[in-house]
Amino acid sequence: MTKPNTSPDVVLDRQCEQRNEQGFLETVMSTGTYRAVIFHNRKALISEPEHSPDHNSPDYSVTYLSPTQLPRDLPAGTQTVYLGKVLPGQGHPLAAGTPLILFALPHDAGELGWVPDGSSFMGYRDVGQQLRAADAQIVIQAQAVANWHATHTFCPRCGNPMEPMKAGWMRRCVQDGSEHFPRTDPAAIVAIVGADERILLANNFQWDQKRYSTVAGFVEAGESAEAGAVREIAEEVGVRLHALHYVASQAWPFPRSLMLGYIGYTNDTVATPDLTEVRAAKWFSRAELQGAVLNGEAVISSRASIARELIEHWYGGKILEPGEQA
Ligand SMILES: [Zn+2]
Repeated sequence: MTKPNTSPDVVLDRQCEQRNEQGFLETVMSTGTYRAVIFHNRKALISEPEHSPDHNSPDYSVTYLSPTQLPRDLPAGTQTVYLGKVLPGQGHPLAAGTPLILFALPHDAGELGWVPDGSSFMGYRDVGQQLRAADAQIVIQAQAVANWHATHTFCPRCGNPMEPMKAGWMRRCVQDGSEHFPRTDPAAIVAIVGADERILLANNFQWDQKRYSTVAGFVEAGESAEAGAVREIAEEVGVRLHALHYVASQAWPFPRSLMLGYIGYTNDTVATPDLTEVRAAKWFSRAELQGAVLNGEAVISSRASIARELIEHWYGGKILEPGEQA
């Protein structure tokens, strides 16, 4: 079961060193070769499948605007951030080397008549599963940094305004010069496996009663991710983990989490939901889970989520959705 993590398929070269240079973003913008990723009210500008640049795509795609498609005067308060340049060989429809810039529009952006037909602002949680993988990664990155700018206008030390620097990856207080960077909150997410190899999935009060997923919780200050996982699992479903196997992580910027995914092993056979966050917890064998998903008794997390990746890691392959063929 234990296998090394493969190298991730990274779509953009963030050019972290170059973007720190004074005037880097302005230089890229002056070339006219960049493409713009537009965010408004924390949603990305997305093309419906029939309006995709590659017309045969069955997927939703990010609407990449050329500089000439942008209005001459962007709404005041638009935040620009350098996202990176497209790397070759990652299946992205834009040419390798194309620089991408995020334009996060202010809430009161006024008339958006320049938005092309067939494109509209969509939330990642609504459309993420239908986005091609290369675009999903770019939306996640843009969402994370856009969220940060939207909530970090003023200095946490002295309350004065902060100005964006380093191509949008830092803000500096105009008064005391303190430097601030986007933060990420680590959370542990665990697929709990018992001694009999069944998986323990939980149903939260916030969800439909048929939905079952892995258990997750935030890592506290001064706590290791593993200690946080053991503590959260004990709190929420009442089982003690004796071993943890790290699988993979996923950035989840809603608003700013980094999900650290584990398989957690327990010898306990009785789960006790906390009845405040978790409504029910249920053991499934592999056959029981696949059967419950196919007949609609259980709904598990979508394929855009690390929860699904962890469940399928335990399962040993793809879990079929109703109507899908093996
Ligand atoms: Zn300050």
